[in-house]
Amino acid sequence: MKADIILLKYGEISLKGLNRPMFEKQLLANVAKALAPLGKFSIRKSQSTVYVEPLGDDIDMQAATERLSKVFGIVNICPAAKCQKTIEDIERTTLECLSQIDLNGKTFKVEAKREDKQFPMNSPQLCRHMGAVILKNTEGLSVDVHNPDILVQIEIRKEAFIFTQKVSGAGGMPVGTAGRAALLLSGGIDSPVAGWMISKRGVVLDAVHFHSHPYTSDRAKEKVIELAKIMTQYTGPIRLHIVPFTDIQLDIIDKCPKNYLTIIMRRLMMRIAEKIARESGAMALITGESIGQVASQTMHSLAVTNEVCTMPVFRPLIGFDKQEIVDISEKIGTYETSVLPYEDCCTIFVAKHPVTKPNLNVIKCSERHLDDVIDEMMERAVSTAETIEVC
Ligand code: ATP
Ligand code: MG
Repeated sequence: MKADIILLKYGEISLKGLNRPMFEKQLLANVAKALAPLGKFSIRKSQSTVYVEPLGDDIDMQAATERLSKVFGIVNICPAAKCQKTIEDIERTTLECLSQIDLNGKTFKVEAKREDKQFPMNSPQLCRHMGAVILKNTEGLSVDVHNPDILVQIEIRKEAFIFTQKVSGAGGMPVGTAGRAALLLSGGIDSPVAGWMISKRGVVLDAVHFHSHPYTSDRAKEKVIELAKIMTQYTGPIRLHIVPFTDIQLDIIDKCPKNYLTIIMRRLMMRIAEKIARESGAMALITGESIGQVASQTMHSLAVTNEVCTMPVFRPLIGFDKQEIVDISEKIGTYETSVLPYEDCCTIFVAKHPVTKPNLNVIKCSERHLDDVIDEMMERAVSTAETIEVC
């Protein structure tokens, strides 16, 4: 159907009380940003609906719908036809909409919503009337009020809107309404999904990636930049910090027991990420960890990793099976890039038999061997990190 306008319906925002205008304002700003590359639009809101109207004939409304389906805070996207609030106009526009759809052998139902109570028919009357008009003027259609193939929706507001398609939105809350957090972004499947989930609740993301040049290649770094780029369709711009980690890793390998390498490395990653987060104004860390996925993610390992953190650490995938995470990564479009076979700093120096129940005393003893140099090394890693604005 050729759309004149797109109606956006939001859910959770409408439950907000006095803060509601703040959420709505951010949503409108995010919608405007998402659509800016496609041309000029009028974007306004009224009664839990945002109206997106193109200011020009050559705007690709399909592309607009696609972009809007990635803006957090929207539950449904309805590309609609717009007409005057007269019965004649509504009849004509509805039939015009249906003429663009293959109706043969299909069933339909009409649903009407009347916000303007001055309109001469109430909603049930309008449904019955339009049902009869559609039956009389089309071929191949029959009515099914329980499970229709085509749901014809008519909304009588300031004008009348007619639509037959409802595209699912991304849900969640508008990005920019819930503070900032730093995502530990590897090149794997899990961490982009974890970042997406937290951003969905309105959080702006920084990302921190640990890079072990020359043990990890430039292509591994490019892959992480590409993952961040894909994520920005949902999250908005991401500030990506690429931290040189080689010296620290080599020092750990030199001074700590082999089976504790990964866990000690993970503790240092968290400490560095926290420093960067604090400097960026982030209030929490995010990781893609899930209980029992690998040795460094057993309950014991997570506990000792967490022990170095003073900020909250969000692990939104904690109870997810791998397949559930894969399903989301396919849906959001990061999977294909995540599975490109480039090495990660966590995988290049792994022990054959990493501990699954690390002992904190052993860790603290080992870390004492690093003490002389580690603060300076961490400072250097932070100060020489490369920051890329991904948008
Ligand atoms: P992913 O979890 O992203 O698929 P992975 O399964 O290889 O990668 P692990 O190596 O077990 O994950 O790491 C667990 C978490 O630690 C990751 O989800 C990510 O948040 C963080 N992490 C791992 N490697 C890096 C890295 N090189 N840079 C930044 N964060 C990392
Ligand atoms: Mg993982």
